[in-house]
Amino acid sequence: MPFREFERLSPNRDETAHERLGVLFHHSGLGFDETIGRMLDPASRVSYHCLIDGDGTRCTLVPDTQVAWHAGASQFMGRERCNDFLLGVAFAGDTYQVPLSGPQLASALEWLAARWAPLGWGPDRITDHRQTSPGRKRDLNPAEWDRLFAAVLEHFGRCSH
Ligand SMILES: [Zn+2]
Repeated sequence: MPFREFERLSPNRDETAHERLGVLFHHSGLGFDETIGRMLDPASRVSYHCLIDGDGTRCTLVPDTQVAWHAGASQFMGRERCNDFLLGVAFAGDTYQVPLSGPQLASALEWLAARWAPLGWGPDRITDHRQTSPGRKRDLNPAEWDRLFAAVLEHFGRCSH
């Protein structure tokens, strides 16, 4: 059963095409509606490609084919500036306060499934903000990252592609 999905395009994006080598997960620290409000405010200068609510509802804020402003100074796969090559997906809320819900995890897997094979992703193509910007960012809670990564391995298997 697919989760509800809708679009609210954020002004905080570059309409240049970018490489979609994988995905960087975040938590937004705010509720779903509050986060969307922040993404729609040009003054915030932040955006994610997709935001996932506790009930699994997804809001698309930046098209996959454009650059969202989610990572800042960051490094992954031996490269700097993750915004240039990773999609940004955020879970609404704070994973240190409230664990990821079952629907949130399932919705993230559904979002990944639409891209995994077409874009040639494997488990080595997903990361989170804590890992790409160590010392500067702490999302996700490591325990919640472990749950997410275990769910990804179970769903997609350990081999790439
Ligand atoms: Zn983040």
